[in-house]
Amino acid sequence: MRFIGGSSNGLVFPRFPKIPFPVWGKVCCANGMAIDTTDLLERFCRYVQLDTRSDAHSDTTPSTPGQWNLLRLLEQEVRALGASDVTITEHGYVLATLPATTTKPGVPTLAWFAHADTATELPGAARPIVHRAYDGRPIVLPDDPTQVLSVETTPHLRDAIGEDVITASGTTLLGADDKAGVAVVMAAARHLLQHPEIPHGKIRLCFNPDEEIGRGVHKLDLAQLGADIAYTLDGGERGEVNFETFSADGAVVEIRGVASHPGWAKDVMVNALRLAGRFVAALPMEFSPERTDLLGGFVHPTEITGNSERATVRMILRDFELDGLAAKRAIVERVAAELRTAEPRARVEVSFAEQYRNMRYWLEKDMRPVEYALEAVRRAGLAPVTPAIRGGTDGSRLTARGLPAPNIFCGMHEVHSQREWVTLQDMALAVDVLLRLAQLWAEQAQTRFGL
Ligand SMILES: [Zn+2]
Repeated sequence: MRFIGGSSNGLVFPRFPKIPFPVWGKVCCANGMAIDTTDLLERFCRYVQLDTRSDAHSDTTPSTPGQWNLLRLLEQEVRALGASDVTITEHGYVLATLPATTTKPGVPTLAWFAHADTATELPGAARPIVHRAYDGRPIVLPDDPTQVLSVETTPHLRDAIGEDVITASGTTLLGADDKAGVAVVMAAARHLLQHPEIPHGKIRLCFNPDEEIGRGVHKLDLAQLGADIAYTLDGGERGEVNFETFSADGAVVEIRGVASHPGWAKDVMVNALRLAGRFVAALPMEFSPERTDLLGGFVHPTEITGNSERATVRMILRDFELDGLAAKRAIVERVAAELRTAEPRARVEVSFAEQYRNMRYWLEKDMRPVEYALEAVRRAGLAPVTPAIRGGTDGSRLTARGLPAPNIFCGMHEVHSQREWVTLQDMALAVDVLLRLAQLWAEQAQTRFGL
């Protein structure tokens, strides 16, 4: 967790009484209307049964045909809810509008984002299992009994006792990352469309492909979106709001050796693969993902390819601060220089590419999008937490492109594994937070909105 001081813009929110933690079927939003948890659960279970894995090796957007199935379904469903301006772009972005219900001037247009794809490592097409009123005992997933969830190995599961825990069956992802976010956005949109008495400004919805391969918003036209502030629904723990991500670079080291027939290679051959191995072994272990957490950054070799004549080492560099990221680049340069000194007959070339930047650099200039999200979490009766994300979100790129986009929880846990889980209650709370957030922006609007 990280505290950012001095940027609260002097906001003072009226105190609201704490709402007791809701129990099954009793999640009430700000206007006292119950959120329809039956619809929310059905939606989530419908979405996770579709296989929407993305694929980094594909050049198309969406990267896989499976994602179209969910994106087209969402287009139909959001149309059926009665949203306006429903479109699906040639790259699969589903956009829609919830028209403003307030005529108050100066209310910004919000956008709610959730991504339709799931992680690439494991199959999608989950068979969801609802463990009603979870009793706290280990959950053995039936299709692979070696996959077990317990309160010892998944501490947040202790907080889920008595709630309705949803898992997959053991051989697939659940896909709560990010179909929990998709279901939450859809449920919140449905609620607002059914309750026009709730005052809010214009809200845009965006369901996008390919977040998991870092291309979630690269074909999104921000002018077409037309929003002032965005929120991604792509977070874990109940009450979580994230406004800080890694800053990220990629690095490539190209090693050119000297080729020779191995039978006559003595004093001639320079084996590029051996040098690649030496290079990776010389990267300091204290700056590896295996040895860092919290705010620590790292250099992480992700791929070695090649043969004895030439080899390529690919790495990702991560840090929360730009000077820390520069220091990671310097590590790569130093280890490459040492390799050149050790084997002058080899050619060793290093290149870097910027990937994304910590969204805090932009958000801290005006923390209102974050402060309002934190207040909405409080009004939903939860204690906000603001951990830094050891990764990136679609919000990292949106924010860098000028659209501030903090991230809000939707309850996903153990993501990118067969043991992925979420509770219906956490998803309902995320719906509640979105509804309160929409009202908060309408309530607090100045006559002129100037971000
Ligand atoms: Zn995600």
